[in-house]
Amino acid sequence: MKKEFVVIGLGRFGGSIVSELIELGADVMAIDISPVKVDKYANIATQAVAADTTDEAVLHSLGIRNFEHVIVAIGENIQASILTTLMLKEIGVPKITVKAQNAYHEKVLEKIGADFVVHPERDMGIRIANNMVSNNILDYLDLSDEHSIAELKVNEFLAGHTIIKLDVRAKYGINIVAIKRQNEIIVSPQADEVIEEGDILIVIGSDTDIHIFEKKLFH
Ligand code: ATP
Repeated sequence: MKKEFVVIGLGRFGGSIVSELIELGADVMAIDISPVKVDKYANIATQAVAADTTDEAVLHSLGIRNFEHVIVAIGENIQASILTTLMLKEIGVPKITVKAQNAYHEKVLEKIGADFVVHPERDMGIRIANNMVSNNILDYLDLSDEHSIAELKVNEFLAGHTIIKLDVRAKYGINIVAIKRQNEIIVSPQADEVIEEGDILIVIGSDTDIHIFEKKLFH
């Protein structure tokens, strides 16, 4: 069965979600209060509708309760974002993802029951900053305030060693959860796996431990 989504707010963020979901084969109802924005997605989304989603009657008439997952990508108008989320919650939408504009907005969204709160600008800023301070960190994903997943490129000093020899869990408090080797991904590598030059280690740990590990072994 095809997955069905609703995306509310067709700015750059909401718009790119619509296009990508369609690309991935999903059905998407795209909604925006601005008819100009709706026109832009008329030929992309499965259905594009101009409507004010802070109006509960509108949400009912569009049959939003029958959709599995609604994404609220209203940015600047925090009041509209919160009201829309409340209405969606009230009509019983099973999964609601909302884009937060700042930390206060995020707190309110969590309190009123948004299932997932995303912060694309902040998260992308963190990723880019981490990529910039180190040539070895290829990517960085924040799991919480203190923990992350990082991708590290293996250099000639690490190549040829087994995971057990590096003893990263005991020495640095981090875990190697996977190794990317050309087109292959070795998930949960064994202790006797020999690391090769050019491999990319995917590690999980506290931010501090990841940075110590990166400084000690990658320079
Ligand atoms: P971007 O993703 O481009 O950074 P943004 O964070 O600046 O966007 P806005 O442009 O403020 O977000 O809002 C995204 C969209 O939400 C806009 O196209 C706007 O018309 C729409 N929007 C605002 N209020 C409502 C509402 N009550 N109902 C439906 N859509 C709304």
